[in-house]
Amino acid sequence: MNAELQTRLSKLGDNLRGGRLDRAALFWLKVFVDLALESDGEVHSDRWVEAGLAAADRFPGLNATALPPRRDLVADYDLFRLQRLRDGVEFIGPGLASLNWARKYRVGLLPALANSLPELHEWVEEMWAELGGVSPRFAALEEVLVRQDGQGRSALLEILHETQSIFDGWLPQAAVERVAAALEVPTADVYGVTEFYEMFHTHPIGRKVIHVCQGAPCALAKVGGTIGAGTIMVFDDTVDLRQVLRRIADFFAHESCGQCYPCQMGTARQAEIMARVAQGQTRPDDAGALLDLGAVMTDTSICGLGQTAALAVVDAHRHWPELFEPV
Ligand code: SF4
Repeated sequence: MNAELQTRLSKLGDNLRGGRLDRAALFWLKVFVDLALESDGEVHSDRWVEAGLAAADRFPGLNATALPPRRDLVADYDLFRLQRLRDGVEFIGPGLASLNWARKYRVGLLPALANSLPELHEWVEEMWAELGGVSPRFAALEEVLVRQDGQGRSALLEILHETQSIFDGWLPQAAVERVAAALEVPTADVYGVTEFYEMFHTHPIGRKVIHVCQGAPCALAKVGGTIGAGTIMVFDDTVDLRQVLRRIADFFAHESCGQCYPCQMGTARQAEIMARVAQGQTRPDDAGALLDLGAVMTDTSICGLGQTAALAVVDAHRHWPELFEPV
């Protein structure tokens, strides 16, 4: 193989195998080589993109519609030369990173590599057999999407949650677009959800995330005074706190949207037990059950409602455990 080609493909192969380059880049290279072999070694950019998008349908999970893999392929590996059809201006090397793909170009290998198309073809086929065009993470996302098939928008929160786990705690654009397409939800709506919930991240994050909360609930928690979510309630000693707690528990059970089980089941069970406690029918294991439910809801619910739904009951138990004693 041409020594220059070998050097460049070695870097390309290393980055594909190491996950530093999206495997869709290999797909775009394969499409280019197949087209170039049918012609005189050059392909028009619109034909390349059109053929790639048509072929991509055969590979679920392939990140073909996003520009970065194709852009990185042409800009970072010194393989290509693009010539703008309108005025013949030539683009090579890093300048290709800012190429305007809305324009049309003649795409070919650099002159030093022009005779190496058959060797490139052989390398691409071997690489494709080894890696394919879908990374293990996108393959895992496809499995999630297949499991949720048919549930549409109602499965969005759960799928985003699983997607974020697959992609090391954040949601790459290509993954968000794939989820949106699979659920037939506009991509903008998916980003609306990721912006609304603090637990979703659209940029890479560190392994440990430190939150400094300056809200009222945390400020009150420091003095052990939290009751409810960001609320201070003042009662005189004629009020039965069990009735107050029951109403708070009913409120959270009513407000839970049911997207995640800890909150859906936890708020319902909490309301059920508090109804018993408020009626003076407390059972010996009710206090323990309320504390267990509180811990699970706080630690595992996926939004602020579920995470705060048990605060009032748990804090009341800490300050006035006698309220929860069996009668
Ligand atoms: S925590 Fe509760 S309100 Fe929030 S998403 Fe889960 S079920 Fe819905």
